[in-house]
Amino acid sequence: ATADMDCDLLVLGAGPGGYSAAFRAADLGLKVVIVERYATLGGVCLNVGCIPSKALLHVAAVMDEVSHMADLGVDYGAPVVNIDKLRGHKEKVIGKLTGGLAAMAKMRKVIVVRGYGAFVGPNHVEVEETTGTAQEKTGNKKVVAFKNAIIAAGSQAVRLPFMPEDPRVVDSTGALALKEVPKRMLILGGGIIGLEMGTVYSTLGARLDVVEMLDGLMQGADRDLVNIWQKMNAKRFDNIMLKTKTVGAEATPEGIKVTFAAAEEGGTCPEPQTYDLVLQAVGRSPNGKKIAADKAGVAVTDRGFINVDIQMRTTVPHIFAIGDIVGQPMLAHKAVHEAHVAAEVIAGELQGNKELAAAAFNARVIPSVAYTDPEVAWVGLTEDQAKAQGIKVKKGLFPWAASGRAIANGRDEGVTKLLFDDSPHAGSDGHAGRGHGKILGGAMVGTHAGDMIGEVALAIEMGADALDIGKTIHPHPTLGESIGMAAEVAHGSCTDVP
Ligand code: FAD
Repeated sequence: ATADMDCDLLVLGAGPGGYSAAFRAADLGLKVVIVERYATLGGVCLNVGCIPSKALLHVAAVMDEVSHMADLGVDYGAPVVNIDKLRGHKEKVIGKLTGGLAAMAKMRKVIVVRGYGAFVGPNHVEVEETTGTAQEKTGNKKVVAFKNAIIAAGSQAVRLPFMPEDPRVVDSTGALALKEVPKRMLILGGGIIGLEMGTVYSTLGARLDVVEMLDGLMQGADRDLVNIWQKMNAKRFDNIMLKTKTVGAEATPEGIKVTFAAAEEGGTCPEPQTYDLVLQAVGRSPNGKKIAADKAGVAVTDRGFINVDIQMRTTVPHIFAIGDIVGQPMLAHKAVHEAHVAAEVIAGELQGNKELAAAAFNARVIPSVAYTDPEVAWVGLTEDQAKAQGIKVKKGLFPWAASGRAIANGRDEGVTKLLFDDSPHAGSDGHAGRGHGKILGGAMVGTHAGDMIGEVALAIEMGADALDIGKTIHPHPTLGESIGMAAEVAHGSCTDVP
């Protein structure tokens, strides 16, 4: 193909993966082009994901907090919600961040080509220009030639096939649009995204039902912590339907009528219910099948994922892939780290810099956080996983009912849990991080848990043991102290040997 422009590196998609890769590559001296169909940079995370959801969750958390203040002696009365203003606040937050990204791209001379990109060969992408907020295609096409490419095209919400096309059925993007507050809302899927959006809507006044196929909400987190979350959030829900499938839905004048079935034989089957709003949050599917990757020779799995090695390289050596499109966990911080690896390997290879070219993704752990109220955060092995893998662990559990700060905050329902390797011959199997006594994982439920889990991730990366963490002086009185305390609990006597 004859090209309209050329570059060292073409990045397809401008989410946290794409813009991080582009910026790192530009900083390393490469000529970079980003292809993005949206009007703004930032992808799902900044436009319709992490950031807008947190802008709304912050407001919800303040509202919840204020509602308890009367007990402490200050009564603000009932909140008066101006939903247009609230939506405006969220838009402002997005605008600030995406505008910042545009400025950073400009400063680095990264060229942004707006449009829908698809491979037309191993070194060419064709971009069909898009316009407006609905990404209409204008028909104008441009071919960009590249030496290397990074595929960062992300993922999109899964839609159940039997769901009617109706404004009362939304995915997370529709829920974030915050058109109005429904009286009754169904959350399909008890994962992080559904429960975060449910938290926002219920604080604004909606009654919630949640339906989940598996036997618990927030899969991936330890059950004892999720149980605390569930107890604290019971008042938001009319029904928590576990081990239940959604099998049909019908748009009626009264609302969306949804029918359920037991997920297991012999299980109970709830009656059909009618809702003002149904949020589909049953997972996200990768965009791998929509970019004509085969034209470049890049293998895509049946489900649309692109498999990569630890340098983020696809089946075609000069084409890399990062972020949601390469697999779980679909989290922004994973995408960013993968992005830096891919950009460094490419720059290293183009410039003959062996050290850079040897970059690899070798994080031991990737933390997860549900930014609900209270927050739930976890990293590394959970207690359930340790049990399933037959790894003997020593547990340090610190209930926040013993934390001065948590009590002062009026929020002492939290728990911090750390797990240390207690296998008699740990380490002999050659697994990294399983040395005797080293920390394997940690989890927290409680306010600001997400802000504290990074310390546990660092401890795991550094192979810390209970003494390292317990003897690290944490400031008093803070919630973070609970990490040091949990380590002391695990260590027992906690004698320091210099
Ligand atoms: P994306 O952010 O999906 O970006 C891909 C980009 O590629 C998009 O801008 C898309 O328009 C563009 N694109 C795709 N195909 C083409 C094409 N053919 N041509 C041109 N452009 C194309 N993660 C967290 O870590 N923390 C959170 O709190 C969090 N909250 C979330 C809340 C919600 C409601 C949702 C939906 C997700 C949340 N996530 C969160 C997940 C996070 O958003 C993703 O993991 C992250 O955005 C993935 O980044 P990415 O770069 O792989 O892709």
